[in-house]
Amino acid sequence: MEIISLTQDKSKMNASFIIKKIDPTIANTLRRMIIEEVPTMAIEDVEIMKNNSVLYDEIIAHRLGLLPLTTDLKSYVVKSECKCEGKGCARCTLQMTLKSKNGMVYASDFKSKDPKVVPAYPKTPIVKLLKGQEIELVATAELGKGKDHIKWAPCMVWYKYKPIINITQANIKDPEAVVKVCPKGVLEVRSGKLEINQKKLMLCNLCAACADEAPNSIKLNEKDDEFVFYIESFGQLKAKEIIVTALDMLKKELSVFEEALNTMK
Ligand SMILES: [Zn+2]
Repeated sequence: MEIISLTQDKSKMNASFIIKKIDPTIANTLRRMIIEEVPTMAIEDVEIMKNNSVLYDEIIAHRLGLLPLTTDLKSYVVKSECKCEGKGCARCTLQMTLKSKNGMVYASDFKSKDPKVVPAYPKTPIVKLLKGQEIELVATAELGKGKDHIKWAPCMVWYKYKPIINITQANIKDPEAVVKVCPKGVLEVRSGKLEINQKKLMLCNLCAACADEAPNSIKLNEKDDEFVFYIESFGQLKAKEIIVTALDMLKKELSVFEEALNTMK
């Protein structure tokens, strides 16, 4: 296995990387570790004291559960693995309060006891209150995993084979026309020749529009042992943190397996 590039955007919430010398089994294992095993904070229990808004208690509780919360993995442990044995304590849960009387209630109206765990998108609307309507509740967030509920999943993650584009120049009558049909802008004309824009090559999804335009000159293929991964965080953790945590989790699972083997007679 060899990671040959890691690129992230300014927010560090989105990243892509290429892994060489692996097969779909390993690629899919990594994808599933990321979605199912990387823990994040999410609201699990809501105690509603007041709510005469247009939304039922259940709808509000459901909305709150889906709010991405910034997550501090160093300070919390997953409830089921906590010393409190799942009762809930300061190491595995966090209480947040919400009290509002007017207008649109936003995620930013939540008061959290831990400044490191707050709604990732403060402008998320929760409910609109009319005159005389109010809402008051205590929400308990806990560290959980995507395998138990998708609200704890940290990101979208997907991969594809690395695309290969082979161009034979001789038969291309109109290179500009071929450039135009590519919806991803992967091709360009340099000194009258059709060339690949290497910076954009990874955007190619093998749609074959170029090969249709120049059937005898362009051959598309995929490299079946090189995978391009994409990660789009939901906001709880940065993309790199997600990857590192997923690999840690995989190591842990493998060591549990190894220990089990060692105890076998
Ligand atoms: Zn606990």
